[in-house]
Amino acid sequence: MEIRHNWTAQEVQALFDKPFMDLLFDAQQVHREYHPANQVQVSTLLSIKTGACPEDCKYCPQSARYRTDVEKERLMEVERVLEAAEKAKASGATRFCMGAAWKNPKQRDMPYLLGMIQGVKGLGLETCMTLGMLDAEQAKTLSEAGLDYYNHNLDTSPEFYGNIITTRTYQERLDTLSNVRDAGMKVCSGGIIGLGESARDRAGLLVELANMPAHPESVPINMLVKVKGTPLENVDDVDPFDFVRIIAVARIMMPKSAVRLSAGREDMNEQMQTLCFMAGANSIFYGCKLLTTPNPDEDADMQLFKKLGINREAVSQKPDQVTEHDLLEQVAERVASRPQEGDLFYDASV
Ligand code: SF4
Repeated sequence: MEIRHNWTAQEVQALFDKPFMDLLFDAQQVHREYHPANQVQVSTLLSIKTGACPEDCKYCPQSARYRTDVEKERLMEVERVLEAAEKAKASGATRFCMGAAWKNPKQRDMPYLLGMIQGVKGLGLETCMTLGMLDAEQAKTLSEAGLDYYNHNLDTSPEFYGNIITTRTYQERLDTLSNVRDAGMKVCSGGIIGLGESARDRAGLLVELANMPAHPESVPINMLVKVKGTPLENVDDVDPFDFVRIIAVARIMMPKSAVRLSAGREDMNEQMQTLCFMAGANSIFYGCKLLTTPNPDEDADMQLFKKLGINREAVSQKPDQVTEHDLLEQVAERVASRPQEGDLFYDASV
C-alpha cells in the first residue's frame, strides 16, 4: 500500500461504501503491513488548565460561553503535573499529553510549560501538548524544550467547520499545524465524529488530514461526548458501525499514522472497541479523565487488552538524569528572567 497525499472525496466515499467485512479486512491488512499486530500505544491526558476558554467550539464544556459543570482551574503547578506524569508512567503510559483550554499560550505561560516538558521528558515519557494556536516562534520554543508531539485537531471538514466554531478559522488551524511541523515536532491531528456532520463531511475531514504534505503521526478520532449545557448536547448519536468504518478508512488512507481512539470511548462497549482495533486503531487515551469528560478506568482497559491478547507499546525513552528539584529551580530562573515579574503560580485561567 503506497503512502498517498492526493485522495479525492469520491475515492473516500467508495471506501465507505464497501461491505463492512471487506473494509475491515483491507484495513487490518494495511495495518499489519505498517504496524506490529496486537500492539496498542497508550497515552495519558492531563488537563493542565481547565475551563474559561474564549473559543466557542460548540462541543466543548470548557468554552466560557456555555453553562456546564466544568470548574475553571488555573494553570497547574509544575510539581502537580509531574506527580500525575509519574502515576501515568506507573500505569503503563508511554506518552503524557498536557492540555490547556486557551486560544493560544501567552508569553507569561512559557516558563511553566517548558518546565513541564522538561520534567515529563526527564521521567522517560514522550511529551505532547495541546494549547491552542501556536505561531512559528512558540512552536520553535516548545520544540527546543523537547516537546515531541503537538495536538491540534481539524475537528471536521472545512465546509462544516463554520457550524461548529466561529472564533478561529480552518486556515488558522492549518497554519498552526504547519508551524508545528516546521519546528520539527510530530503532529497529532484528527477530528470529532457526531457533531451533526454529513457522511460527505466525514470524508472531507479525512481528505484534509491525508492530503497534508506529511500525514499526522497521530490521528485521534473522537466520538462526541454530549455534555449538558453545550449547544450539541442533544445531537443524534453516531451509529457504532459508521464509527468503526471511519477508523478503518483512516487506517487505509494514513497507513503509517497511529490512529487513536480518543474521547467517547466511555460510551463504547468492549465489542465496539474491539472492532475499532480490528479496523486499525492502535493507540488509546488511558486514565480516568480525558480532559474533562470521563474515560474508561485503567483496569477495564487492561482487562480488555488481556482478553484480546493486546500488548502495550513499551516505554521508548530513557529517563534523563534531571531531578525535580533541579527542574523547579530552572523554572524559577526562567520566570525570574522574563520581562514581567509574577507569582510562580499565577492565575492563568484566561
Ligand atoms: S479551544 Fe479547546 S478548550 Fe477552547 S473551547 Fe475549543 S475545544 Fe474547548
